[in-house]
Amino acid sequence: MSNKKILILPGDGIGNEVMSEVLKIINWMEKTKSISFDISERLVGGTAYDKEGDSISDETMQVALDVDAVLFGAVGGSRWDNVEREKRPEAALLRLRKDLDLFANLRPAVVLDALAEASSLKTHLVKGLDILIVRELTSGVYFGQPRGISKISETESKAIDTQVYSTSEIKRVSKVAFDLAKLRSNKVSSAEKSNVMETGLLWRNVVTDLHEKEYTSVDLEHILADNCAMQLVRNPKQFDVILTDNLFGDLLSDTAAMLTGSLGMLPSASLGPVKENGTRAAMYEPVHGSAPDIAGQSKANPLAMILSFAMMLKYSFNMQEDSQLVEKAVQNVLLKGLRTADIADSANKIISTKEMGDAVIEELKILSGN
Ligand code: NAD
Repeated sequence: MSNKKILILPGDGIGNEVMSEVLKIINWMEKTKSISFDISERLVGGTAYDKEGDSISDETMQVALDVDAVLFGAVGGSRWDNVEREKRPEAALLRLRKDLDLFANLRPAVVLDALAEASSLKTHLVKGLDILIVRELTSGVYFGQPRGISKISETESKAIDTQVYSTSEIKRVSKVAFDLAKLRSNKVSSAEKSNVMETGLLWRNVVTDLHEKEYTSVDLEHILADNCAMQLVRNPKQFDVILTDNLFGDLLSDTAAMLTGSLGMLPSASLGPVKENGTRAAMYEPVHGSAPDIAGQSKANPLAMILSFAMMLKYSFNMQEDSQLVEKAVQNVLLKGLRTADIADSANKIISTKEMGDAVIEELKILSGN
């Protein structure tokens, strides 16, 4: 029996189409590399609501808690707009994040040579870009209490959101950032607003303290989050790992994503606490949604999903070589000019979702001599 237990949740819309291409790669790896995965596949999102009455059933949630890694496609669609909020497709995603305590969200922004021209920035600014944003995902202003809107007079209402962080919440996500920096270019840029926010001040103090005690070998810089946003579009290659809170991470990771060109190319990982057996809860998913406008037409770009699978190999199973093999296969396919419609220009032949998946497998065969 394999010790690599994966739960596959394709979801809705293009989630199914892009996940099918990952399953082909998994099959190929099992056949040619004698790696075995123990795979469960279940419904999530609107599809689960239609068949099981909820966007994620308790049974599926239990499987998610038991496996080593969850691979998630995408959920959502206008068909489910009128479903009550707690059963909506997106509620499944929130429950997975909450119940698995996925506190560290990893969003790489990598500009592959073949796609450097697709960026909205000048090519020389982004060519070779490889940064990683580590965003705190389960606390901060999106969850802090009190919150709400109250009426204070006939004509006035008042809205409150509360930004709140504790030492341990800051420390655990900072450890993830420092540990990952050690495997990369060894630099962490911690972004907050310590000049005007108390949470920013605590954030800076906790990060400084942790660095002094456990991570002096890693370069640390503190940067104000607004300056970080400016630097991301002025000179993004100065960064290696950017560590930041939930709110600033939401904005900075989307800014960094756009440096790379297309939504169809962006993977992500969300990590939880280390469990008693030494593994950590983890979920891997593309940044994009279910893309109802192109669902069912084999137009979706499966590379974000495939790159999310590569992240799973790296972070959940410590399979660095296999992860790099998949990433290299993706790069080579692009260097050959093969493109789905979302990343194509007039010089490219446009291929389907399935053809892109097949092209990645062909490259894997070439690269591994199988
Ligand atoms: P979206 O990411 O689904 O699509 C935005 C645009 O990008 C669309 O034009 C789409 O065709 C295109 N696109 C997205 N992924 C692509 C891919 N792999 N290949 C080619 N083109 C791609 O965002 P949206 O349209 O705002 O939302 C659609 C639905 O997805 C909504 O119900 C939303 O709630 C949901 N959503 C889910 C997730 C998730 O599951 N993690 C994330 C974002 C949005």
